[in-house]
Amino acid sequence: MAKKPFISLAQARDIIADVPTPFHVYDEAGIRARARAVNAAFSWNPGFREYFAVKATPNPYLLKILQEEGCGVDTSSYTELVLSDACGFKGHDIMFSSNDTPALDMCEAARLGALINLDDLTMVDFLEQVADVPETIFCRYNPGGVFELGTDIMDNPGDAKYGMSEAQMVEAFGRLAKRGARRFGIHAFLASNTVTNEYYPTLARQLFELAVRVSQAAGVRIFAINLSGGVGVDYRPEQPANDIAVIGEGVRRAYEEVLVPAGMGDVAIFTEMGRYMLAPFGALVTTAIHEKHIYKEYVGVDACAANLMRPAMYGAYHHITVLGKEHEPCDHIYDVTGGLCENNDKFAVDRKLPKIDMGDVLFIHDAGAHGFSMGYNYNGKLRSAEVLLREDGSHQVIRRAETPMDYFATFDQTPFYDAIRTSNAQGERAFAESKASAWRPGAQQA
Ligand SMILES: *Cc1c(COP(=O)(O)O)cnc(C)c1O
Repeated sequence: MAKKPFISLAQARDIIADVPTPFHVYDEAGIRARARAVNAAFSWNPGFREYFAVKATPNPYLLKILQEEGCGVDTSSYTELVLSDACGFKGHDIMFSSNDTPALDMCEAARLGALINLDDLTMVDFLEQVADVPETIFCRYNPGGVFELGTDIMDNPGDAKYGMSEAQMVEAFGRLAKRGARRFGIHAFLASNTVTNEYYPTLARQLFELAVRVSQAAGVRIFAINLSGGVGVDYRPEQPANDIAVIGEGVRRAYEEVLVPAGMGDVAIFTEMGRYMLAPFGALVTTAIHEKHIYKEYVGVDACAANLMRPAMYGAYHHITVLGKEHEPCDHIYDVTGGLCENNDKFAVDRKLPKIDMGDVLFIHDAGAHGFSMGYNYNGKLRSAEVLLREDGSHQVIRRAETPMDYFATFDQTPFYDAIRTSNAQGERAFAESKASAWRPGAQQA
């Protein structure tokens, strides 16, 4: 499907007047519509709940929007638990699906009464050593081997560090039952970024069949099955988008065919989607600031892989729209680069785009999940602001950009800190008083 940015050039300029590029912008209307579509697709299951994967986009303003739409949160670290608690997610509003878990994190999950998802049999003893075993508990399954849809290998659980075998699930449930657990959940995440309506239904059928076997073998009651994340988005314009209504219906069919006949028609379905919930409703907005013509044509922008790591890390495709040039022919071929001293710092390679002029504003699509949150500070690059486009068309800064002193903050106990602060203040003052502060990309051409 053709990819359409959710802001116009005029709206981008309006935001840029408050917040210089680069920044991430999110679309409230799109987020709410997506959450409602997900809830509608699974409304046949009375216990259904989506637990948004906080790691995808850990911003309290966005978590509050999802909370208003009825979602819980899926967390896997102490800080994600703290953020969720601060947003008012309580008790079973929170899933805690950590692995290789530190004692502090597990203690906090137990303190908040979160739904704890144990990644391994050895975690049963660990849990008991650091907290009381709760009445309700999940265990994470890994079938090993490869995960196939038809003849396509989707992913390779046998190589993944997560989860436990079926025999270990039975053993874990039995041990947990002896220590007071009464309600048991099953969780698995077997393939990532799937762009097919068959992933969840296929996974669900496997987990439903597993649930029937495991509940009998361990003599326990399964109250919920968590399909986790992995529902993907159409990053490329030629890809067909997933249809959540079709996915929900496919899961319903497996439920009717496997769980209901086994007398397990009261099991709740949970999901923990991150990417599908938010990726299309966030974008990285950046300005073209340099061009160079060597063996290839390069456009340099003011964002870099520190703002959006997926292209550099996975060679991932992110569609780019040059705002205001939506209808111009894509008759130029560019590498669109950031300024890291790393040759993989390219948002696009050999990409057909309209002619880009310096000062043009680029909208990098589908950055709303695993975008800002994977950001890092390599080369001393600073994390950008995040901006929310409200349903009424206004915008709100929902996280300011990092400053140099944020970057240096962890030196505050060292003797270097005062010198750093002095140098930074001199640099910022010199810039403000110099001709550099009036520089605009492309101004020299005009
Ligand atoms: C990352 C993760 C998710 C979300 O995955 P998406 O691909 O963003 O949907 C859900 N659950 C767990 C345990 C995860 O680690």
